Amino acid sequence: MIQMIDVKKTYPGGVTALAGVSATVAAGELVGIVGPSGSGKSTMLHLLGALDRPSAGTVRIDGHDVADLPDRSLSALRARTIGFVFQQFHLAPGVSALDNVADGLLYCGVRRRERRRRAALALARVGLDHRAGHRPHEMSGGERQRVAIARAVVGDPAVLLADEPTGNLDSSASAAVMTLLHGLHADGATVVVITHDQKIAAGLPRRLAMRDGRLGES
Ligand code: ADP
Repeated sequence: MIQMIDVKKTYPGGVTALAGVSATVAAGELVGIVGPSGSGKSTMLHLLGALDRPSAGTVRIDGHDVADLPDRSLSALRARTIGFVFQQFHLAPGVSALDNVADGLLYCGVRRRERRRRAALALARVGLDHRAGHRPHEMSGGERQRVAIARAVVGDPAVLLADEPTGNLDSSASAAVMTLLHGLHADGATVVVITHDQKIAAGLPRRLAMRDGRLGES
């Protein structure tokens, strides 16, 4: 599903964030990216999610070499293939859970009514159908993150990328979010989770450990 071959990323100013990383994520895998702050985890996620291009090396997502794609095709690949979940939820304030999730289909050429129908199904999948009319400020942090996960999966992306999804949650909400991600994986989704939480990392079937822009399995 995702292939990185000797990928390097250097930021303007000369910081080498990735110093030659090769890794493969197969369809249906649940993989953690772990490592200390500054080790290159977010840079990895940006490259895995086609949010950025490598300085050298090859990144292939669902068969497409991102270096070959113009910006517009890269955005299209991202919209079609990747679902993102962030530590800060990034839900639209003042908008119901249902419409926040339905907005995950805005760039898929689906009519509003169908978007809302699918959003209701995605909310049920994360156990929040009874919160469809609630706005983000009327929900707990754990519920907001589950809405964000519903939005990320509503378009049935090939890959779900989660960047510290439990970073803002207490331990019981974290456990609920991880149970949900494990459940999506069990249903066949490909899931990549960035975490610095050792306990969460220990519960994942496979871990890629980052250190100083390099990778080792742990
Ligand atoms: P992590 O997610 O593990 O904390 P990052 O991928 O954010 O690591 O950062 C890896 C290295 O790249 C760090 O030294 C960081 O300061 C640097 N870095 C990250 N993003 C940028 C950027 N946009 N411009 C310059 N340097 C950056």
